[in-house]
Amino acid sequence: MIRTDGLRGVETEDVAACSGAFLRVAAGEPWDDFVASCVGQRFVGVEALSGIPGLVGATPIQNVGAYGQEVSQTIARVRAYDRRAGEVKTLFAFDCRFGYRSSVFKREPGRYVVLSVSFQLGLGRMSTPVRYGELASRLGVEPGGLAPLADVREAVLALRRGKGMVLDAADHDTWSAGSFFTNPILTAEQAAALPEQAPRFPASPALFGKGGTVAVADDRVKTSAAWLIEHAGFGKGYGTPPATLSTRHSLALTNRGGATAADLVALAREIRDGVEARFGVRLVPEPVLVGISLDD
Ligand SMILES: Cc1cc2nc3c(=O)[nH]c(=O)nc-3n(C[C@H](O)[C@H](O)[C@H](O)COP(=O)(O)OP(=O)(O)OC[C@H]3O[C@@H](n4cnc5c(N)ncnc54)[C@H](O)[C@@H]3O)c2cc1C
Repeated sequence: MIRTDGLRGVETEDVAACSGAFLRVAAGEPWDDFVASCVGQRFVGVEALSGIPGLVGATPIQNVGAYGQEVSQTIARVRAYDRRAGEVKTLFAFDCRFGYRSSVFKREPGRYVVLSVSFQLGLGRMSTPVRYGELASRLGVEPGGLAPLADVREAVLALRRGKGMVLDAADHDTWSAGSFFTNPILTAEQAAALPEQAPRFPASPALFGKGGTVAVADDRVKTSAAWLIEHAGFGKGYGTPPATLSTRHSLALTNRGGATAADLVALAREIRDGVEARFGVRLVPEPVLVGISLDD
């Protein structure tokens, strides 16, 4: 297990009108505290990532993302200890090979220990363009429109609370690892085989980001794992306690109290296999499973 929670501190390396704010954040800083402080200081680019649990050092691992933003859009570089080479290295955004819920750190598990993450953020009162439809409508802006940073943070927190995605010890719906499956990325042919009502998004929102995201032509289509799960017959709350789907979000597998990893994996397997039987799409787990697998 990697312990970096002792590494603390946020260092402002530069703030300039032309290049924005350049901040080096130690791996052990709580992510949401950092987001709140950026919003307070009018640093733009992470406001839609409000309310995500965990530490800053973990965010590059799966290229943490939500509501139309991903950390790859603002990470300039990552300082990491390379266990294989036995030395501390600086990886620029391009070297991190960010993709959807993926990076070099995730592809080479155990090789790197992230020590700090440097972000390059915009300056201003308004957010980056709000591309996520549900967030845009909550804010009363057109998709692609701008909204005040603080409003975006509040709207995201409210949406997340409504889905049980903000940790609350008194609420079993939040006893989860967040989204259990990634949204499937399909070829155009696979996407065409889905029912007409199935959601379809461009596969590469990162194309619109900067630094570290590879701008390649990509006609693949992202669909919604939550939609597939619900339409394969696994509605919110599905399952038998102590492991069930959240009653507020079909993508969260929850522990109603006393569930073991085996209980959760059995539910995950049932859902993955049910979705595959119904739609021919095999869901892939988002969390890293340790010592247990869906394929056992
Ligand atoms: C309720 C809930 C909602 C969530 N919502 C989202 C969401 O909207 N979007 C999203 O992307 N994620 C989401 N997540 C997932 C999770 O919050 C993120 O993956 C977060 O980055 C995990 O941080 P952590 O510090 O807890 O890392 P851990 O869970 O401890 O670790 C995650 C992985 O990263 C590795 N790791 C952690 N720190 C380091 C380091 N310093 N160096 C090298 N490797 C490291 C670990 O070995 C492990 O493989 C959610 C989780 C929950 C519980």
